[in-house]
Amino acid sequence: MDKIKEVAGNNTNDLVEMNRSAIVRILQQTDGCSRADIAKMTGLTQASVTKIVAVLIEMGIVSEVGFVRGNGNRRSIGLRLNAEKNLVIGVKFSRHVFSIGVFDICGKNYTKQETEFGLDEFAEDVLAEMKKQIHELLNKYKNIVAIGMAVPGPYLRKEGRIAMVTRMPSWHDVNFIDEFQNEFDKPFFIEQDANAGALAEWWFGNHGRPLNSLTYFLVGEGVGSGIVDHDRLLLGNLGIASEIGHISIDVNGPACECGNRGCLELYCSATAMLKKAKKLLPEIFQEEITNRWEACNKVFIAAKEGNEKALELVDEIAEYIGYGCVTLINGYDPEIIVIGDSISQGGNLLLPTINRIVKERILPEISSRVQIKISELTIDPTLYGAAAIATDKMLRKPSEYLVRK
Ligand SMILES: [Zn+2]
Repeated sequence: MDKIKEVAGNNTNDLVEMNRSAIVRILQQTDGCSRADIAKMTGLTQASVTKIVAVLIEMGIVSEVGFVRGNGNRRSIGLRLNAEKNLVIGVKFSRHVFSIGVFDICGKNYTKQETEFGLDEFAEDVLAEMKKQIHELLNKYKNIVAIGMAVPGPYLRKEGRIAMVTRMPSWHDVNFIDEFQNEFDKPFFIEQDANAGALAEWWFGNHGRPLNSLTYFLVGEGVGSGIVDHDRLLLGNLGIASEIGHISIDVNGPACECGNRGCLELYCSATAMLKKAKKLLPEIFQEEITNRWEACNKVFIAAKEGNEKALELVDEIAEYIGYGCVTLINGYDPEIIVIGDSISQGGNLLLPTINRIVKERILPEISSRVQIKISELTIDPTLYGAAAIATDKMLRKPSEYLVRK
């Protein structure tokens, strides 16, 4: 059915909803902007904006917030989204741990909790615990309008299955759509982790608007990327587009579990860095560190303190991330690349080398127009992204999904 809808036209009702959505999306980004600002940003006439805003206020989706300073210092009435009436649950599922949080559609966090589990635990027991916790939150927070979930990629989104779950064979056959979609009386949406991170940066990352194309470059236990291009997540046919971690950077390199050789993920993931760090820097791993984010951070701290071997290793990782950025730029022409997950803790230790590689290998007319940043989100981008998956759907069909008075 989806396919038929994609090539079909829009009826008047769809157009009305699209315009409501355009306004709601601006207000999600720009709290307190006026009707005149919205007219300028959407290209809609002032009269149309006034009419649509009146309906959104009547529905209880938007409120007036008193006067703001507008053009030529004139005072005009500001508008805001009633975000507190529209909460979403974000669920992040990953190896060893799942996290669940409650957020509003403007990204404010109300609560979050984390549950660890072992690789030997039965998938059905872990799923039962996840469902129980979600039900508890639904009982506690009455304004929840939707649930979003982020799972490790590559995730076959039409089938609801994760294609490759390293060291977790019991999860290979789990159908996430069957498990979750009918469990709750709220809409439920699932995407893979890098896509979730891209949506988190798009909706909650304060990158400003207008913004044409943003790439989230996930460099953690795995390596992947998520792309929002002209307001839409790039999905491909199966939902596995932009799996940059499995692009080969050495066709004769080591074999990867995906079947390819010399995949980028084998050179700059946390797994790759920690494997090398344990050989090169045994002194910093004398005590066993179970938290892998902390283990990565130890390497970066050693580099900051001037440890030569740590500096060399961090520089090597940054080079590979740089090659990844070159591929992302050539493949997807992003305006911003945001690097996130555990390796991004390296921050300014990584950026100069990444930028140098990009400058060396991309035409200056292009490289000078791409910003490469480290994620500044204070909440785990994948969990935040799970909430952003649901938020994204809500903002596209505000009168269908958002709370009415
Ligand atoms: Zn691979």
